[in-house]
Amino acid sequence: MPRILPQVLRNLFRKPFTVKYPYVKVEPPEGYRGRLAINKERCIRCWLCIHTCPARAISVDKETKRPSIWLGRCTFCGECAEVCPTKAITMTKEFEYTTLYEK
Ligand code: SF4
Ligand code: SF4
Repeated sequence: MPRILPQVLRNLFRKPFTVKYPYVKVEPPEGYRGRLAINKERCIRCWLCIHTCPARAISVDKETKRPSIWLGRCTFCGECAEVCPTKAITMTKEFEYTTLYEK
């Protein structure tokens, strides 16, 4: 106990490394892989995103005939955004959401 006492005393007066989320909002760093966004106008329906997704989280929406991402299954690897030739899929910094599908 006496050996760790100086460390304990030092830490008592240090600022905490954690933040009081959700009272304090944190800006994710550059390159953060958050919620995916699909720009419908840019999509040319090449389906490369569907074939690339390792989690099989993307399918063709029956109504819109465009990609639909099942966010509950997505691992946020970013492969679909990387492979999309028109940059129709982008990764946002958003990490607070309750929707299960991105269409
Ligand atoms: S890869 Fe891009 S352009 Fe091709 S279907 Fe997917 S979102 Fe549309
Ligand atoms: S980020 Fe990765 S897991 Fe999620 S939809 Fe795109 S390719 Fe699939």
